[in-house]
Amino acid sequence: MLYIEPARLPADWCSSMTALSLRYFAACLLLLVLPSTGAHAQNEPQRVIVPIAGDLYRFQNNFHYSVFLVASDGIIATDPIDAGAAQWLKSELGRRFPGKPVRYLIYSHSHADHIAGGQVFADTATVVAHERAKERILAEKVPTAVPALTFSDRMTIEAGGKRVELYYLGHNHSDNTIVMRFPDEGALFAVDIVAVKRLPYRDFPDGHLDDWIETLKAVERMDFDVLAPGHGSLGTRADVAEHRRYLELLRERVKREMDAGKSVQEIKRAVKMSEHESWGSYRDWVELNVEGMYRYLRARGRN
Ligand SMILES: [Zn+2]
Repeated sequence: MLYIEPARLPADWCSSMTALSLRYFAACLLLLVLPSTGAHAQNEPQRVIVPIAGDLYRFQNNFHYSVFLVASDGIIATDPIDAGAAQWLKSELGRRFPGKPVRYLIYSHSHADHIAGGQVFADTATVVAHERAKERILAEKVPTAVPALTFSDRMTIEAGGKRVELYYLGHNHSDNTIVMRFPDEGALFAVDIVAVKRLPYRDFPDGHLDDWIETLKAVERMDFDVLAPGHGSLGTRADVAEHRRYLELLRERVKREMDAGKSVQEIKRAVKMSEHESWGSYRDWVELNVEGMYRYLRARGRN
């Protein structure tokens, strides 16, 4: 879209009758409808820090989110998202919380779109992840810092009087996804396994859907008030149950059609999940969700 910087225009530009050729008139109208942020801001990533509860904050980089916890002598950070985001976050943390370096950097899982750029914090932070995340980061050469501290089932990280509990709950969205519970802040950070009133991502690449459903049941049994997902808005534990119910319904419906001998094309036409039409990404992803569930159930049937 054409954008004219207002600073380059004469002061009376829009009101000058002599300048009101059709072309100028069109440009005037354009200025009226353009958002105040202008073209430059539209191309820049949207980066925001908002408080969640107590000393826990949420960091947004466009469509990706992570959280960080400020302790007395440092900060426990999570997914760096990418190198540019991590640089921005590092300088914001230095400005807002001087004298508090990032002591720990915890990865939610090994996917590069959430954890690239970890090297930005490697000067002060111990990098933590599930043991299989470390294997995948090394094997896939994910452009980030390699975890130095790993675990298999559960671990608690403590720093400066603050703590976060890390749980591995099975092979769900990936085989190395963990959830992070902040007990004193009543919050849970869970990436790519749950979203608030939004369909799961596309066709469940890498997903193991039965374990995924069990993972969400385990999350529902945890004690927390605020759900902070890796994408989209904040929610509550009730949103976890809704997401689990969506996966269960999708599974039931796809399986019923498969048992009736239908092809994947027929199943995509038959299974609509229409009670979730109001959820985000419904139009874009519902068929992909059906296809992914079909592929998962077919592969599972053969094993
Ligand atoms: Zn992922």
